[in-house]
This record gives sequence, structure tokens and C-alpha cells, in this order.
Amino acid sequence: MLRTFPTPYPDELLYSIFARHHIRSGNKSFQQTVEELLGYVPQQLYGLGLPNSLSVLAKNLHPITNLTVEGLVVEHTLFPFYKSFLTPPEAFRLKDLMKKKAGKPIFQVAKIAVIEKDSDKQLLRFCSQCFEEDFQKYGEAYWHRTHQIPGVLVCLEHKKLLNDSLVPLQDGYLDCYAANLENCLVSDVPAICQESTLQQLIAIAKEISWLCSAQFEFKGLQWLRKQYQHHLVAQSFVSFSSSRAFKFHEEKFVDAVLSCYGQDCLSLIKPGLADRLGRYFYRCLFACDVEPVIDRVTHVLLIKFLLNSLKNLLEA
Ligand SMILES: [Zn+2]
Repeated sequence: MLRTFPTPYPDELLYSIFARHHIRSGNKSFQQTVEELLGYVPQQLYGLGLPNSLSVLAKNLHPITNLTVEGLVVEHTLFPFYKSFLTPPEAFRLKDLMKKKAGKPIFQVAKIAVIEKDSDKQLLRFCSQCFEEDFQKYGEAYWHRTHQIPGVLVCLEHKKLLNDSLVPLQDGYLDCYAANLENCLVSDVPAICQESTLQQLIAIAKEISWLCSAQFEFKGLQWLRKQYQHHLVAQSFVSFSSSRAFKFHEEKFVDAVLSCYGQDCLSLIKPGLADRLGRYFYRCLFACDVEPVIDRVTHVLLIKFLLNSLKNLLEA
């Protein structure tokens, strides 16, 4: 029974709690701490956002903590984001896998693309103001879960751009990195973006935040593809010739999306896509139900563009 497990802070990423626990434990290696907590050292990709073996952890915790498997999954992991665009049985499978010690690779069940290049690795992010306030309030900083959600580049509390830390999100449980002044360089201020870009990033972050907390049953990617087709036809981005041949007006669509969000905003949210935006959108719009992975952030951008907000489609 673990008696020294720290009380999680609001919106704290589970890895962050592990890192704080490790520092207090006096263990020599972080791997030893993780093994004590989870029963083994997971080698899973995306383990920081979507950890597994949480039933073992919950059993190891003292009842006084009031921490349950369900609470850990929903409050301290990225499950609420990755469950989006999964049908209820798929989301159940993902959650079930996070509770267990071994099973199918989590990224496959969550339908996340595997990162191939080191340059595409995401770093843990932090908000300089949250960092300062947490320090004042708790005497230490911590990794906020909502700052690590893909597509969320601003702190919704302070309406500020998030900073990249020096800690890679995809490196899993290799080492212990509690948020501190060495890995959260506050001098490393992100490039100042225009007010209009910041406002777009805030609007997108709000949509993603809604997506993570809303209670609706997703009807599947085939349903989503049909919705896209309906709205593309209604807004004249798709037309049919007299022979009923289908035509997607790719250039017109890309121009409209670019003018809606702005080039700067899209480059920040989807770096590296600028020169193949049309082809990429085409695949997300017309082949999302046959792709093995789900690009949730692009779906957020497409739905918000076509229907103004996710609520208008997903809750309808
Ligand atoms: Zn903040």
C-alpha cells in the first residue's frame, strides 16, 4: 500500500503525479517507482497521455486518497480527448485497456498515428502564468493535463500561448521530469502571434475543451463522412455534373478554410501541412472511415469551419 502518493492537483497529468511521488519516495531510479506504482514499467508509446495498468495503481493506493480507476482515467489522462471520434464500444475498449496491465498497443486502439520523425515529437507544454501561480499556491509547479491536449496551444485560463518545455511527451516513463525551472524555461517565450491568430487559437481550444467534456454518443466515422458530404454540397464545395459525377472544389475549399482560420493559425496547429492541405483535407473528408488513424484536430477544424461549432453537428 502506497502511503506517500501525492494528492493530485487540479487538472494534473498522471505522469506529473508519478514524478512528484518519485521525488518524495527516495527511490534511486524512476523505473523502480513506476514498477511500484503500476506493477511493471510500460514501454507503450503515448504512455504519458494514455497510461495503462491503472487498476494495479488504484489497488496500490491507500483508500484515504479516494482515487478510483475511473477518476484517474477521466481526470488525469488524455482519455477524454482520445475517446472523441470513437464509438461508445471503441471508447469502452480503450478505457478497458488503460485499466489493464497488458494488451493490444494503446495507440492502435485509440487510432493515433505513430510518430515517425523525432522532429514531430511533442514536448510537454506549460503556461508561464499557471507555472508561477502554482508555485505560489502549492510551492511547486506541475504538468497540467489540458495543456498537453493536441490542438490546444493556449491556456484557456489565462488566454496565453503555451510554451514548449524540454520534456518529450512521447518518451514515456524513461525518466522522471517533474515540472521545474530547469525544464520549463520561462525565458523561452513563444513567438508572439497576432491578436487575430491568438483569438482563433482560443476559439479552437474552446471547441476541443467542449469535445473532451461533452456527453454525446458518436455515431461513427461513416456517419461523419456523410455529414461532411451533406454540408459540402450545401455550401457548394462539392457539385455533381449532369452525369452525377462528383466534383470536390479543392482549391476553393482550401482558400475558404485558410481565410477562416488564417495561415499563421493553421501553421501553428498543423505544422508541415501547408503545401498539401488540399490532399490532406480530401482524405479526412472523404476517407475518414477507411483510414486506420483518426486525426482529431483536423476533424475539429473541418467541423468548426463547416458548421461553426462542434456542438451543431455532434449534439444534433
Ligand atoms: Zn495559464
